[in-house]
Order: sequence, then structure tokens, then C-alpha cells
Amino acid sequence: MTPLLQVRDVAKFYGGRIGCTGVSFDLYPGEVMGIVGESGSGKSTLLNCLAGHLPPDDGQVIFDTRADGPVDTVTMSEPARRMLGRTDWAFVHQHAREGLRMGVSAGGNIGERLMAVGARHYGDIRHSAEDWLGRVEIDTGRIDDRPTQFSGGMQQRLQIARNLVTGPRLVFMDEPTGGLDVSVQARLLDLLRGLVREMGLSALIVTHDLAVVRLLADRLMVMKDGHVVETGLTDQVLDDPQHGYTQLLVSSVLQV
Ligand code: ADP
Ligand code: MG
Repeated sequence: MTPLLQVRDVAKFYGGRIGCTGVSFDLYPGEVMGIVGESGSGKSTLLNCLAGHLPPDDGQVIFDTRADGPVDTVTMSEPARRMLGRTDWAFVHQHAREGLRMGVSAGGNIGERLMAVGARHYGDIRHSAEDWLGRVEIDTGRIDDRPTQFSGGMQQRLQIARNLVTGPRLVFMDEPTGGLDVSVQARLLDLLRGLVREMGLSALIVTHDLAVVRLLADRLMVMKDGHVVETGLTDQVLDDPQHGYTQLLVSSVLQV
């Protein structure tokens, strides 16, 4: 099977400071990989390099595109990368407002993504938007409301609907449950787990919350100071961590 994503020696520096370095791994279709580590360990930097939001200083990111098969997204043209962002990729931000258009209705937020991949029929778009609002447990009667009228948890669920409506091949998530109340987090996590299973999603999920990866991720990558220090199956890494840093992380000695 061709990997969906082949990451080879990716590095990003901010001046003299390491963002991430020497990161290599493969992600196969249908796999969910968790990226964990304390704050400042390079998780977001890596995710943004892989999702085409930041240019890495070194390395290759080979993504198996729907249209043309495996392509290095680092060296591809900016318009081609932007197209991937609208078609094959989805990106769920920690703060919903970064991933939503706050001045556009809930239905419009979902419909816009469909139109970006060629949907034109108003009735079909409206119907898909209603369907997706239901799937993320938002009352369809609120389809014409703006995200500003929604709670934080609802905004995050709308962002997820907007991202998944087009059936992306790869979903990037940066702290998808971060910044929400604990009870809201639990519900969102449950919802995400259902969607991951139902849709067989391939995803990279950055989080400092081990409960999130325990529930969602097949495999884990542990980062420290921009380096990957341990990788493995989620249960294996969490139940029998090999690296000293992972042991600290798992035993909650580190405040992450
Ligand atoms: P994480 O997401 O794990 O908290 P980041 O990827 O945000 O970590 O940060 C990794 C390192 O890169 C940290 O030392 C951070 O201070 C640094 N860094 C991140 N973004 C920038 C930036 N825009 N400019 C300079 N340094 C940055
Ligand atoms: Mg981060």
C-alpha cells in the first residue's frame, strides 16, 4: 500500500532556534497519528510544515494526491498547494475562529467548502449543510445563524463539519479540544471518535492531552525540543514508554 504521507527529515528553524528537525515518518490511509509533547516541543511547527502553512527549511513531504498520486508538497507551486488545502486536506485549528468565516452563516461556512470543490446546486449544498450540522449535533434550525452566536463547543463542531464535508484524504488537527471546558471537551472527543471511525479518516492530531490521543490515535509520535524521541502504537507508548521523557509525560510529572 502506498503511504498517504511520507515525511523525510523535515526541519524548520526560526533564526537560530529549532522549530523541529529530523522528523521522518509514514502515515498510511485510514491511520490516525497523534503528535504529543509539552508546550514548545515543535508540534505545531511540524504540523504547519506538513499542511503547507509553513515552508520547511529542509526535507520532503510526499503526499499521495487524489489527482496526481505522490507529490512533494514542499517543492510544488503555491497555487497547487492551496488547491490541496481546499480539496485533499482539511485543517482544524485550536481556535475555531481561525478556521471559520465568522461573518458567514453556519450553512454558508459548510457550503463554501463544497463550492470550492465544484458544488453548484443550491438545494444540494443546503441539504449537505443540514446533514452535516446534524452529524456534529448542531440544531439544523440554526443553519442561518452566524458562528458568533454559537458557544465555543458549537463553533468547534461547526469547524469540524466545514472541514469534513468534502471528504478530505487527510485531516490535520492542532489541539482540537484545547481551550474548551472539560465537559465540552469530552463531548467533542466522543463526536470526533465517532467521525474518525465512521469515515475511516486519516489524520494527524497534535495535542498535549494524552486522553485525546488515547481515544483517537492508532500511533503516537512524542516530541521534545523539536525532535521526535519516541514513536509506536498508542497503547504501547502510553503503557510502556521507553524514553525517559515519555515516561515523565505519561506519569504527568511534566506540566504540559
Ligand atoms: P508546540 O506546538 O509544541 O507548543 P511550537 O511548534 O509552537 O511548539 O514551537 C516550537 C519552538 O519554536 C518553540 O521553541 C517556539 O518558541 C518556537 N517558535 C514557534 N513559532 C515561532 C515563531 N513564529 N517565531 C519564532 N519562534 C517560534
Ligand atoms: Mg502548538
